[in-house]
Amino acid sequence: MTAKTVAVLGGGIGGIVCATELKKKLGREHRVILIDKKENHTFYPSLLWLIFGLRKPEQIQRSLKILTQKGIEFIKGEVAEISIDKKSLSLNGQDIHYDYLIISLGAELNTKEFPKTPKIFNFYCLEGAKLSGESIRNFSHGKIIILVGGIPFKCPAAPYEFAFLIDSFFKDKNLRNKVSIEIYTPEPLPMPTAGPLIGPMLREILESRQIHFKPEYRFKSIDEGKIYFENSKTADFDLLFVVPPHTAPEVVKKANLTNESGWIPVDRETLKTKFEDMYAIGDITTIKLPGQYKPDKPLNLPKAGVFAHSQAEVVAENIAREIHGQKPDKRFSGGGSCFIELGNNTAGFARGNFYALPQPHISIYNPGKIWHLGKVILEKWWFYKWF
Ligand SMILES: Cc1cc2nc3c(=O)[nH]c(=O)nc-3n(C[C@H](O)[C@H](O)[C@H](O)COP(=O)(O)OP(=O)(O)OC[C@H]3O[C@@H](n4cnc5c(N)ncnc54)[C@H](O)[C@@H]3O)c2cc1C
Repeated sequence: MTAKTVAVLGGGIGGIVCATELKKKLGREHRVILIDKKENHTFYPSLLWLIFGLRKPEQIQRSLKILTQKGIEFIKGEVAEISIDKKSLSLNGQDIHYDYLIISLGAELNTKEFPKTPKIFNFYCLEGAKLSGESIRNFSHGKIIILVGGIPFKCPAAPYEFAFLIDSFFKDKNLRNKVSIEIYTPEPLPMPTAGPLIGPMLREILESRQIHFKPEYRFKSIDEGKIYFENSKTADFDLLFVVPPHTAPEVVKKANLTNESGWIPVDRETLKTKFEDMYAIGDITTIKLPGQYKPDKPLNLPKAGVFAHSQAEVVAENIAREIHGQKPDKRFSGGGSCFIELGNNTAGFARGNFYALPQPHISIYNPGKIWHLGKVILEKWWFYKWF
């Protein structure tokens, strides 16, 4: 058997799982290369805890160099070009040949439309989350707005979790009656892909905590203290936390791997792209769900780490089987789960199958401290298992 080179692009949730599983299954005879422009991996599900001082940056990051102890070759560098015909990548001024390619480059956050002022924060990245935390700790009265800048965005629960945590934070400081909290989003309901039960339930919890939910608001522009929406309405703020619009990284657009959605289309069960020996997983993909809640309203698989993780396992197994001359018959079944932080050390939990017919089938469990603990254990397990 000739030695194969498998290149995994992106050392986030999908890339780490995929590279590790591949190396385990392929052994020393084959090369597994993991490439990321950053040396440190950040576990984003813990970012909201960092904002509220419950985690330090070093607790939610690990160096990807640690993976070299497992035999994975880690290269730090920005992938500048993917040459599909030549099966090669260019980075750091070098060309790297691959036999198999897995693209797990995630979503880029587009912040260029947000003025740089001490009132506006991108809480979806580590630096922005740190600054968000400082601004909240120094805030004593006024209006806080959370703005979802575009759809799709990763972790559809995060803006709502953030609102619940802000609410709890100011209640604990006896300042809640001096702080108003509003969420503006283009979505019709919170987490619409998760079905007709979760959205109304979250909306009810938001209302019960005087967090004002403003659905179907698309922002047009922002100045230092005001948001202008497409529906001609405006909103003033004292602090603004944004989920910036997401796009696929430039390198995959340049390689014509994206479709009209702006993301990479893949087979929903095998994660194969239309090119031979090339797969894409996680946030960078677009996957149409087979079922839907309303006619004429097709749904896409949400962007979340839980899916990137399961997809990575499927792709690693199938590539390893193919290299070993076996049938690559593992399939991604659309299953996933999500903890929803509600503040005060409690969380909700939802689990289901997004590929179910005639519509996704999602179950919700009663909120409680147990689910918050579940999320903490998941974080600990993540670092224990993969680093
Ligand atoms: C605040 C917050 C909370 C979240 N909470 C949850 C949660 O509770 N549960 C859940 O399931 N998901 C959650 N998510 C979403 C989850 O983090 C993502 O869905 C997941 O990380 C996607 O994994 P990925 O491998 O597709 O991409 P990523 O993890 O984003 O990894 C992509 C990697 O590619 C690298 N990269 C990009 N372009 C290049 C390039 N040109 N060259 C080299 N490297 C490049 C990046 O540096 C990055 O390391 C949360 C996200 C946020 C922001």
